Amino acid sequence: MPLGQNNEVYSTYKKPGSNQVRYSYISSCMRALTRAVSGIKRPRLHCVLCDVSCARPQQLYGHIQMFHLPYSLYCPYSGCHWRGAREDQFQGHQKRYHQFGELPAHRIYDVKMVLGWIKAAESVDFIPIAQTWAIGLVQEKATELGRYQWLDDSWGC
Ligand SMILES: [Zn+2]
Ligand SMILES: [Zn+2]
Repeated sequence: MPLGQNNEVYSTYKKPGSNQVRYSYISSCMRALTRAVSGIKRPRLHCVLCDVSCARPQQLYGHIQMFHLPYSLYCPYSGCHWRGAREDQFQGHQKRYHQFGELPAHRIYDVKMVLGWIKAAESVDFIPIAQTWAIGLVQEKATELGRYQWLDDSWGC
């Protein structure tokens, strides 16, 4: 699958931050996803982005989330630049740096939705495409929140 189709995804970026754009962005992702479904199943799942192979799909999704997707959570306190992948990491951060806080981490993008796209595609070849979309979601949120440093550093790690 050539990454050239991203042009289509980004062509919907007319007014970043508005719900309408968010909807059209996701629906264009879903259209491309439908085209990407190959139906090829392999006995052992090899990550196409590194040498790791997993026996079970669940292990592969955990691996992708940990190593190949941008951080999906951020610290809501103003002026704080923390980003991370897990709620318990945020709670540790909050305890240490925002002593009296009891907030949940805020979400940059829905990582379960991105993993769901990979599951639906049933092909490891889809991983880099989902990765590109996840970065697109981070950039969309960065514009929405005015956290422009995320545009330069979409990964957070
Ligand atoms: Zn990998
Ligand atoms: Zn913080």
